[in-house]
Amino acid sequence: MIEVENLIGGEYSTAAESFDDICPSDGSIIASIPRTMMVDDAVKAAENAQPGWGALSLEQRADWLDKIADALESQHRQLAELEALDTGKPLEVAMEVDISRSIENFRFFAEFSRNMPEEVFEMEDATNTVLRKPVGVVGLISPWNLPLYLLTWKVAPALLMGNTIIAKPSEITPLTAHRLGQILCEIGFPAGVVNIVHGYGPEIGQSLVEHPAVKAISFTGGTATGRLVARTAAPMFKKLSLELGGKNSSIILDDADLGLAVPGVVRAGFLNSGQICLCGSRILVHSSIYDEFLESFLAAVSELKIGPVISENHMAKVLSFIDLAVAEGGDIVAGGLRSEDDGFHIEATVITGLSHDSRTATEEIFGPVVTIHRFDSDAEAVEMANCTDYGLAGSVWSKNRGEELAKQIESGMVWVNTWLHRDLRVPFGGIKDSGVGREGGMWSLGFFSEAINICVKHNDLQARV
Ligand code: NAD
Repeated sequence: MIEVENLIGGEYSTAAESFDDICPSDGSIIASIPRTMMVDDAVKAAENAQPGWGALSLEQRADWLDKIADALESQHRQLAELEALDTGKPLEVAMEVDISRSIENFRFFAEFSRNMPEEVFEMEDATNTVLRKPVGVVGLISPWNLPLYLLTWKVAPALLMGNTIIAKPSEITPLTAHRLGQILCEIGFPAGVVNIVHGYGPEIGQSLVEHPAVKAISFTGGTATGRLVARTAAPMFKKLSLELGGKNSSIILDDADLGLAVPGVVRAGFLNSGQICLCGSRILVHSSIYDEFLESFLAAVSELKIGPVISENHMAKVLSFIDLAVAEGGDIVAGGLRSEDDGFHIEATVITGLSHDSRTATEEIFGPVVTIHRFDSDAEAVEMANCTDYGLAGSVWSKNRGEELAKQIESGMVWVNTWLHRDLRVPFGGIKDSGVGREGGMWSLGFFSEAINICVKHNDLQARV
């Protein structure tokens, strides 16, 4: 039994009140999570630490990011075991996706900063330089589906730009964030620069967003929660980044290479039990190849071994969507049931026969459930793909027309003949109800800094070189 504690100013505090962390694989209690309101203390610690951390050079902070990456790397397997325990995902996925990427987040931003060009704009009679100052104390709120991966995607650029942090990990998966805090203490990372407060979102998360000394909120989570966060933070003029839900299409055109498309679309539908915001859960297939695609797709799905969904509540929500699909007239052609008595397992589920604008096909389910729909032309595929309120991601599978079609999809990113192929320099984020703002490369560094312009008029008496 692990006791998760708040990390404030480099110290851990034992909680008077706590609640249980449940393992999704078997429903057992694996940890206790503090339920103590310590946001004020965390803000004070972060305020005290900010001048010292902000005064380091970019290079010194980048060196710290590398040291953190080294420390995480030395604990790669232990961190993956904790992530697998807390989320129920297979250990290989935790090793290869979650923890590898968490390490890369620190290494990437450290290296990126070393290659950052100076921002200088020359005028005829003056020189403008852009200074990037820290925003100050920032709040980082993250979800349960990729716990350490998504938290460190915010921590690394926030630290690099000289901010001090209050991190609020998901109350459903606190273990790797807790371990990250311990690792920071073990390597002598300056106290108070990273503070971690655990607990329920509407209590701890909300009070973090409300706190006047927290100058920016970077939030990843559901669209409904994002709306609440925006409602609180926007009138306080906080910097706000919202990475929200998705309902993404995988589009298979008539000239697709099915040898590539079928495994790609299966992976996009079911990786992490379909619990990735980028998952392609609505599959649009050209009529001329529909039967051939469906047969191979179902054969591949029948071979899948997937982990549980995250919680009992979430399992009930996903199963209720399968009931809704039946009520809407859909055919369950694979799966459809809870698969084991222990834990929160649901079979990989494939639904056909629904309209592309049905609730099942347009609302975010966030589980191992996909719907498949037919189309007869590229224009119809685009219209079907764009008919949801979300606009996060998508993929197009085609030998010749993928890029052209991708440009017409209303979403923040579209992959052609691949999925979840990430270059960390590119903008990441959604349009429509999938969010506001972008993360990645310079977009993250821009969010976690205040860009200040210094304009120096040339002295006419001095010759300019
Ligand atoms: P959630 O919105 O329930 O919770 C996210 C975080 O917000 C948690 O830490 C939670 O404690 C906190 N929170 C809850 N209420 C709050 C409040 N009132 N004020 C401040 N914080 C609050 O989301 P979830 O169920 O943890 O994650 C799943 C959702 O996240 C899905 O919708 C998924 O699409 C989305 N997601 C989006 C991205 C992306 O990059 N766009 C990535 C991963 C997940």
